[in-house]
Amino acid sequence: MGIQNLISDIRKNAIKRMDRKSPAELSATWSSKDLLYSGIGNAIFIILPTPGCAHALSESGGCSMCSYISDSPLETVSPEELIHIFSNLMNKHEVKPKTALKIFVSGSFLNEKELPKDARDEILKMIDKEKNIEEVIVESRPEFVREDVLQECCNLLPEKIFEVSIGLESSSDYIKKYKINKGFLNEDFEKAVNSIRKLKSDYKITSKAYLFVKPILTSEKEAIEDAVASAKYAEKAGVDRISFCPATIHKGTFMEVLWRRGSYQPPWIWSIIEIIKRVRNEVKIPVIMDTSGFGSRRGPFNCKKCNKKLKKMIIESNLNQTIPEEFQCECKNKWIGDVEFSDFTRSTCNISSK
Ligand SMILES: [Zn+2]
Repeated sequence: MGIQNLISDIRKNAIKRMDRKSPAELSATWSSKDLLYSGIGNAIFIILPTPGCAHALSESGGCSMCSYISDSPLETVSPEELIHIFSNLMNKHEVKPKTALKIFVSGSFLNEKELPKDARDEILKMIDKEKNIEEVIVESRPEFVREDVLQECCNLLPEKIFEVSIGLESSSDYIKKYKINKGFLNEDFEKAVNSIRKLKSDYKITSKAYLFVKPILTSEKEAIEDAVASAKYAEKAGVDRISFCPATIHKGTFMEVLWRRGSYQPPWIWSIIEIIKRVRNEVKIPVIMDTSGFGSRRGPFNCKKCNKKLKKMIIESNLNQTIPEEFQCECKNKWIGDVEFSDFTRSTCNISSK
């Protein structure tokens, strides 16, 4: 049985077991400090409940590590309701000067089957009226990144930076196909990035690559090497920013099945520090490391003594784009052992004892 069949079965079961919630219950918003193109500012995060990622709902079963589909109502949400939810979420914030607005639809913002054009247009018009918003960041799979759609969006936001984030995850087509089940290749990613680049002379449009740290069936050492190689590739492909997402175990995924069997562990936070060090030296564009889930049972983990301290250092490093200063903890030798040991185990499932 191939990985795709396994993923497809696990997804179908997970969807069957999902607690159905209303779109309003599935919506969420929060804010935090963030790094904008103009420097340190604020970010407002909006989770908009659209019917669900087309890839996760397809026969392929979607990506091996992702369960954002569980944040989706799995039914049509009318444009009126989406606009109403968006407006309610925005009203919870006082929009401070220098704000980036990040809209997550748990799928593709640019896919009109997920977010109808009427709702998209109205939401962008509302954003355009908020003077303090400098950047609007959305996410999309590359197949929905088309020049005409991008132009429609940019025309509604003439004063703001419009950024399309694409989940490339890895620059290795082998990893994308056999370990992530991503459903697209580098050439699709490059085509999407080029569509965005072509519009740069007319609009304030940018692109970002999301990169995943430590897919399934990947050793600690391979995870570090793949992350660094992927960042270099994304920069060369022409993206403006990079955001790394280190693995956390989502419920109802193939990754969770392997983790429960002891055949997968999220990366060490030491590996994350190593990736930051190397990428800051080798890549010139801004690189952000997502720290959600750090120090938890299902997320990147060192030891109880240093988890919090290192997470704080990484958040600092995101804001200032600096290399975290040297830090020692007794757990580091165990990590070094894992990296060296994993050199011999190669692609076999590395059962770590941390
Ligand atoms: Zn430690």
